[in-house]
Amino acid sequence: MHPIIQNMKDIRHISQEELVSFLLSIGEKKFRASQIAEWLWKKGAASFEEMSNLSQSLRSRLQESFTFTHAEISDHRQSTDGTRKYIFRLHDGKQVEGVLIPTETRVTACISSQVGCALRCSFCATGTMGFIRNLDFTEIFDQFILLDKEAQTNYNQHITNIVYMGMGEPLLNYDAVMRSIALITSPNGQGLSPSRITLSTVGIAPGIRKLADDGFKPEVALSLHCADELKRRQRMPVTETQNFEKLREALVYLHEKTGKRITIEYLMLKNWNDSVEDARKLFRFCQPFPVKINLIEYNSTESGYEKSPEENVRKFVEFLESKNMVVNIRHSRGKDIDAACGQLVKKGQN
Ligand code: SF4
Repeated sequence: MHPIIQNMKDIRHISQEELVSFLLSIGEKKFRASQIAEWLWKKGAASFEEMSNLSQSLRSRLQESFTFTHAEISDHRQSTDGTRKYIFRLHDGKQVEGVLIPTETRVTACISSQVGCALRCSFCATGTMGFIRNLDFTEIFDQFILLDKEAQTNYNQHITNIVYMGMGEPLLNYDAVMRSIALITSPNGQGLSPSRITLSTVGIAPGIRKLADDGFKPEVALSLHCADELKRRQRMPVTETQNFEKLREALVYLHEKTGKRITIEYLMLKNWNDSVEDARKLFRFCQPFPVKINLIEYNSTESGYEKSPEENVRKFVEFLESKNMVVNIRHSRGKDIDAACGQLVKKGQN
């Protein structure tokens, strides 16, 4: 039914030109369209009532003429480490999750791009849901607005960084993700610097090429997790269609076109991808383009994997550093509330 409900268009799905014609047709001035756009994208309004510089009669006309759907927070949990996980209810009752991760200097919001995910990486809780639907750009934008309000309430600070790393594969919902980023970064929207946004992908080669062609400004992270193609295929079935040759070519193309350094995300899983031989394969994989490597501590979900022992991590890091690679170790946040990497899942959706 979305975005048209009962034959009315959603106010956030009409163009500025359509809005201007509507306003002129009811005898209003053109500049009202800019005021309305400011409420929608800069102030993040969630109702016509909030648009206090419009007359009451115009607000009523808008209310009668358009729908205004928006996501709501339906639940949240707080971790002992300050991380907060939120469940967003969408206009059709579907739910996605987002996470706020505070540190001393920043607040990072992790947001979702799809309800569920089709790619079924075996260590990821979201993958067990299967794909339900894509999020609309307004539903992605709403997560940012709602989380930013929560960040101010709980940490007395605005969101400083966003990672598209929640539920779903952002490059399989390309247009909506790009439109949400445009609104979040636009001076007429939320005005966040593109350099504070990271899009995380498991490696959809055509999508990476499109980022390059579109002059994508934010950061790009590749959730590689294993640099042995056969092993990766067993646990990340997407590798079958997006093989390493295609993937590397796309990453080289992205680097050539944008000058980007790619962040490699690598979950350390005991006895699967954490040997020195695995580190050597990772080093070889990354040769054609500049990278920074984030090694991530794994959180046990119901997948049956275990996190790597410290000794394995140490040797892995030593090898990569001996090859002059930039390596960071990321400890998971929000483990006690299932908010950490790979743990986002909303049970019971249909
Ligand atoms: S890791 Fe990402 S791509 Fe893989 S199943 Fe989970 S959400 Fe989908």
